[in-house]
Amino acid sequence: MKIQFLGAARTVTGSCYIIEACGRRFAVDCGMHQGNKAVEERNSDAKIYRPGDLDFILITHAHIDHSGLLPLMVASGYTKPIYCTRATRELLGIMLLDSAHIQEMEALNEAKKFKRRGLGNAPKALYTQEDALKTDTLFQPVDYHTSLELAPGIKATFYDAGHILGSASLRLEISEDGKTTSLLFSGDIGRPGALIVREPETPPAADYIFMESTYGDRDHKNESTSIEELAEAIAYSYERKEKIIIPAFAVERTQEILCCLHQLARDGKLPDDLPIFVDSPLAIRASEIFSRHRDLFDVKTRGMLGEGDDLFALPNLRYTLTAAESQSINALTGPAIVISASGMCNAGRIKHHLRHNVWKAGASIVFVGYQAVGTVGRKLVEHAKKITLFGEDLAVAARIFTINGFSGHAGQSQLLSWLSPLLRNGTHVVLVHGEQTAQDTLAAKIKERFGIDVAIPDYLEEVTLHGSDITQCVMHNAEAYPRVNWNFLAGEVERKWQIFRDQLKDIEHKPWVDQKDLEESIGKIEFYLTRLIARL
Ligand SMILES: [Zn+2]
Ligand SMILES: [Zn+2]
Repeated sequence: MKIQFLGAARTVTGSCYIIEACGRRFAVDCGMHQGNKAVEERNSDAKIYRPGDLDFILITHAHIDHSGLLPLMVASGYTKPIYCTRATRELLGIMLLDSAHIQEMEALNEAKKFKRRGLGNAPKALYTQEDALKTDTLFQPVDYHTSLELAPGIKATFYDAGHILGSASLRLEISEDGKTTSLLFSGDIGRPGALIVREPETPPAADYIFMESTYGDRDHKNESTSIEELAEAIAYSYERKEKIIIPAFAVERTQEILCCLHQLARDGKLPDDLPIFVDSPLAIRASEIFSRHRDLFDVKTRGMLGEGDDLFALPNLRYTLTAAESQSINALTGPAIVISASGMCNAGRIKHHLRHNVWKAGASIVFVGYQAVGTVGRKLVEHAKKITLFGEDLAVAARIFTINGFSGHAGQSQLLSWLSPLLRNGTHVVLVHGEQTAQDTLAAKIKERFGIDVAIPDYLEEVTLHGSDITQCVMHNAEAYPRVNWNFLAGEVERKWQIFRDQLKDIEHKPWVDQKDLEESIGKIEFYLTRLIARL
């Protein structure tokens, strides 16, 4: 049996394993790569996945970093079944369509820029809404704990990973040459004690464990005080008659916040006259899906929400669908809670709400999720005095709250507790879905606690397994990290600079206005070079 790592290897996004066993070739997860330009370029290479040669795909959960390339596979020749839990299937129905819409809008904007510059061949959308709709016809919903025979010798069982609605860890049993090998793919492991989802389950032990390591180097702080921190933010802005802005991912995090608001209302900590807006069409559709799957909620959440038809309804809660309704929130005077996406403030309606509120003393911005480097959210969390939105500088006068206890991922000690009962003699642990420091730290902890050596595969690495032995390991570094040809680049810059110098005599005789234009261009080159050198 062979396994290749096509993403989330020494990084967090792009989860995908391609497995060859029992004469079949299949994938576990098919996620989008997210990050800087070089990382995102990996998305455009569908060939590397050989979609036409895949016999089936298994998806652990609906997050885009585990599922976002499915429509690209379908657009590139994939026509076979995609297995996932029922709730994941329903969430993917809306999330892939939303992702395709974003891809199309970005491509449209790029095309406009190309046209303005007089350039042809603008890049096309990675995939379209039509591709997402085609993908929707291939899903085969699966129940938790039901062992599924996908092909002779290949069995799969889904276990609740407690991460988002429908999320799963996936256990495969592969029988080849008279031997059965078990492999457990953790998917993303939830945080015990999180609202809505159940605790992560403990599947049966396995020969190989492929485990996420997002928070491998730290525990979450102040998990139990999150709801009080939310109450504090609400009280702060309510007294000052300003708004409480909560940037939140549309799926899971928005519903968790609504659960917390239920609890605050029950405890008398939510003012009766405080309007609440959920301003994200995707969040509204996701809430409907959550309501249909209340059987998957943990006991605490079910108790809190009661048995009403509309689980996420509160007396003053309004869902806003249209752009006009969204804009009318900003015309409203007085305090209100506004929950909107994107969670990192880098896109979507939340940007408008920030523009209207971030400069107001008395307003609150409440962060409840991870803020990636370079996003507006990260700048606010790091107490920037000014931010730029829509090309406009805005002073930050609102109070910034960062609440840690809403993470969807297990922290370091929780990861170790998850792993502990899954080990048996000779189990191999392979870490994926983490940045290098998080992975190295967790690997050292696993070695210290359980005495096991841990593997940390690289992007495109291929391993061959025979029963419980790893017999071969092939790296593809040249393909994974194409070399930057510095000598060529530096030579080109020097050559062109010489052409410019050779013409200096003529330039000195040009009209003064033209010389000033040229001076400005050289000034820019000099500025970029200074910045480049400062980064070395
Ligand atoms: Zn996830
Ligand atoms: Zn993930």
